[in-house]
Amino acid sequence: MNRFINYSQDAIQAARYIGQGFIVTLDHMNRFPITIQYPYEKLIPSERFRGRIHFEFDKRIACEVCVRVCPMNLPVVDWELRRTMRRKRLRSYSIDFGICIFCGNCVEYCPTNCLSMTEEYELSTHDRHELNYDQVALGRLPVSVIEDSAIKTLSNSISLPKRVMEGHSGLQKITSS
Ligand code: SF4
Ligand code: SF4
Repeated sequence: MNRFINYSQDAIQAARYIGQGFIVTLDHMNRFPITIQYPYEKLIPSERFRGRIHFEFDKRIACEVCVRVCPMNLPVVDWELRRTMRRKRLRSYSIDFGICIFCGNCVEYCPTNCLSMTEEYELSTHDRHELNYDQVALGRLPVSVIEDSAIKTLSNSISLPKRVMEGHSGLQKITSS
């Protein structure tokens, strides 16, 4: 008799687990696919996305504040002193994106706002030394995914199911404020 009771309890437990599995499967049938068909589809980065840094050469004063605030001691500022003009002249400026952690400190503290963070995130390359951008590469205007008519753009919010977004209302408040 005991064996029969144990067997029945195990069978009920197994049926419950199978039922729970089916509920999870059915729950996912309501959701949008989260996979993005990159590179044919791309997410539109958020407004405060920290991508490749843009450098405006005309605004530079070679103060080296960006070097002092960088946790990686990264920007390389090469300058010479113009004694006649009593000012520094910037010879070259570079940032190695193979080392940069995109913290945004340099952008935050630059006194002339000559640095800004763009929405560019496609920095992959075969040779890591190509990630060392000089002032010419840093001065290139960013490419926006919205302007590329060959790809389909998706906003961040539609990749997640509505119910999941509702569950993160606190997060939405932070991102929308
Ligand atoms: S984003 Fe951060 S790590 Fe990168 S160069 Fe600026 S301060 Fe340095
Ligand atoms: S903080 Fe700004 S102005 Fe100063 S060296 Fe860096 S990029 Fe140039």
